[in-house]
Amino acid sequence: MNESKLFGAIEAGGTKFVCMVGTSPNDIRKEERFATTSPEETIEKAIEFFIYFVKNHQLAAVGIASFGPIDLNLASETYGYITTTPKPGWKFVDLVGKVQHALGVPVAFDTDVNAAAFGEQYWVEENRLLDPFIYITIGTGIGVGIVANGSLLHGLVHTEAGHMFIPHDKEKDPFPGVCPFHGDCWEGLASGLSMEKRWNQKPETLSDSHWAWEVEVDYIAHALVNLIYSYSPMRIILGGGVPQHAGLHQAVRRKVLDINQNYLQSQVLIKNIDDYISPPFLGNRSGGLGAIALAKTLLTQ
Ligand code: ZN
Repeated sequence: MNESKLFGAIEAGGTKFVCMVGTSPNDIRKEERFATTSPEETIEKAIEFFIYFVKNHQLAAVGIASFGPIDLNLASETYGYITTTPKPGWKFVDLVGKVQHALGVPVAFDTDVNAAAFGEQYWVEENRLLDPFIYITIGTGIGVGIVANGSLLHGLVHTEAGHMFIPHDKEKDPFPGVCPFHGDCWEGLASGLSMEKRWNQKPETLSDSHWAWEVEVDYIAHALVNLIYSYSPMRIILGGGVPQHAGLHQAVRRKVLDINQNYLQSQVLIKNIDDYISPPFLGNRSGGLGAIALAKTLLTQ
C-alpha cells in the first residue's frame, strides 16, 4: 500500500453528516459538515466530498459511522442499510451500497456510537488497554457503543442500550417520554429531544439551577449503573451535547456512587470515579475519527 493513501470517514448523524479524509487525528486533510436532509441529497453530498481523492487514487477505504438501527449482518440482504429508523424518508436506505458503488473502495460500517468507542480506544493511549470499554452519547437521542474482548459488540444486531428501561417515578416526573417505540425508555426520558419537549426549551438554555438537571442526572446515573452492572466496563466515556452542561459529569459520578450503595467495591470505581466516568478525549470527533480507524483496520485485517 502506498504511504500517501488516505482514509475517509462519514459520520452519518440524524441531524448532520460529517465527512473527513486523512490518516490520523493530527492529519485530517479535509473536513466538511452539512445538514441531514433527504437520503438522496445527503448521500450524494457525502460522495461528492470524496470524488477528488478517488480521482487522484488517494482514497484507500472509507468508514461509515451511522445513526441506527442499522444492519451489520454480512450475510443479510440488507447489510449496510439503515433499517427501522423513525427518521422520515430514511427507513431501509442502502447507505453502504451507494457509497461503495460510487467510490469503488472498501467500506467499513458500524453504528456512530460503536465507531466512537472504537476511535476513543484506537487513538487514545489512556483508553487502549481498557476492556470492556463503553462510549455513550446523549444528544438528540441516546446511543451506547461497547468494546468487549477487543471487538465491538454486535451479536443479534448491535446494542441498543440507549433504549433501556429505567425507574420512572410518574408522580415526580409525569412526562410520558418521547421515544416513538417505547415512550419512557432512557432515550425517551433523558435525550436532548426529551428535555426540549418536557421543559419547552433547548437543554443548553436551561439555567444551572433548573430542576431539569437533577431529573436528568438521576436518569443518566441509573442507566450508567445498569451498564456498569451488566458489562463491568473499565471506563465509561460520556459524550454528546447534553453532558457538556457544566457540572453534569461530576453530578452523575456522585449519583452513580450513591445508587451503587457500596455494593460494587472496585477501587477503580470508588477512588477514581473522575477518570472512570470521563468526557470524550477526542471531543466531538470520536465518531468521525473512529470511522477513519475502522477504515484503516479494514485493510489490515
Ligand atoms: Zn425507546
